[in-house]
Amino acid sequence: MTLHLFNTYSGKKEPFEPANPNRVTMYVCGPTVYSYAHIGNARPPVVFDVLFRVLREQYGGDAVVYARNFTDIDDKIIRASQESGDPIRVITEKFADIYRDDMAALGTLTPTKEPRATEHIPEMQDLVSALLKHGHAYAEQNHVLFSVRSFDGYGRLSKLPQDDIIAGARVEVAPYKRDPADFVLWKPSADDEPGWGAPEGWGVSGRGRPGWHLECSAMIRAGLGDTIDIHGGGQDLRFPHHENEIAQSCCAHDTGDVPLARYWLHNGFLNMGKDKMSKSLGNIVTPHELLETWQGEVLRFALLSAHYRQPLEWTDTLLEQSKRQLDRFYRVLSDLSDLPDVTVALPGAVLTALQDDLNTPEAISALHALRDRAVSAAGPDQVQANAELLTAGRLMGLFLSEPEIWFKGAGAGGGLADEVIEALLKERTTARQAKNYARADEIRDELAAANIIFEDGAAGTTWRRG
Ligand code: AMP
Ligand code: ZN
Repeated sequence: MTLHLFNTYSGKKEPFEPANPNRVTMYVCGPTVYSYAHIGNARPPVVFDVLFRVLREQYGGDAVVYARNFTDIDDKIIRASQESGDPIRVITEKFADIYRDDMAALGTLTPTKEPRATEHIPEMQDLVSALLKHGHAYAEQNHVLFSVRSFDGYGRLSKLPQDDIIAGARVEVAPYKRDPADFVLWKPSADDEPGWGAPEGWGVSGRGRPGWHLECSAMIRAGLGDTIDIHGGGQDLRFPHHENEIAQSCCAHDTGDVPLARYWLHNGFLNMGKDKMSKSLGNIVTPHELLETWQGEVLRFALLSAHYRQPLEWTDTLLEQSKRQLDRFYRVLSDLSDLPDVTVALPGAVLTALQDDLNTPEAISALHALRDRAVSAAGPDQVQANAELLTAGRLMGLFLSEPEIWFKGAGAGGGLADEVIEALLKERTTARQAKNYARADEIRDELAAANIIFEDGAAGTTWRRG
């Protein structure tokens, strides 16, 4: 078995063959940094982190170039700055840092490149100039627009016929568009908005800024090249974002037939009940707040519990089950921690599952089988099974803690942090001294529910997680 990936562009699962095995390239559309990402936004970085790890395993760590961008110029950021009074740069730096920390807590490797849109304005302008030159773009009322009708390939990724797109109600009508399907490459900035001067010859005056789609096309070209192997993102980005990226990038070439990406991968939605988790619906929970209660690995495990193209419903039960499953793995890793560390090949069942379009639920089942084998084997077989379990788990970015740290970590005791437990115990002592037994009992019950075991002794109260 070799790696097979479902390519949205062809609508088929295909064997993955990089154009150059010494430089395998992957780009994943990253966050717009104006507030906290939600846990649905964390699905692409976690899923594509598994792919990054699988590719590194196959082609070597240095051969895979993975870029995940930050959109740090956007109307939503401008609005956040106007509302809070904080400069744009302060907001984008703050939320980019938080994003990086949170994604690291979810066990994602740092991408090879993390380009920021504002660092690539000249490359965006070069693309616009090329599109104007080739007749794929036009200037109108200080905007530059991409002419969708000028590109035959438009709609091929999302499988939407051009006429449907043009008739589509989702397309914004604006006086500066010759056709409602046309989209903005460059737009004017007001005096209090960030902007850059347009090159001469565009037919626009004053300061302006790029449209969102243009940013990704330019960052891909600058950091990875004209044609990349893999382009990823959530399924909502297929249209219009990725369709527009393709149109801009392909048409900027003299020949117009240089593909932007060879394999297009899209993850399904993370849902709350029946609805997609999204800021606009207000049904979000953020990794930032979840990490106060749960270990990052629990969130990662939960995100990988469904196949990446399937919907995933986010519930407390999912989190509790993920935590329990990980506890069972760590219990065995703890019991077998005295076994010698030996180097083993990746176990076939886990590799086969991951190579089958990243079938993580199947890979997790294979991990369970390995764990059972490690428990029941003896002697050298047990050493082998334990090493295979660790190797396979780590390939998926799991089992990265030491077992004893795992059992003391956040969430290990129903989510109570050490300081909270200690504060509760102190409050219980004070309550008892004040003969407020009702409060003391309440705290005892709360700690018991969180699986905290404590004992009153001569030297005070000691506690541990159960
Ligand atoms: P956005 O900030 O909306 O541009 O989203 C950033 C990334 O998260 C994109 O790849 C989206 O497709 C993805 N995304 C947004 N919402 C969800 C969701 N509920 N489930 C899965 N992926 C999502
Ligand atoms: Zn993008």
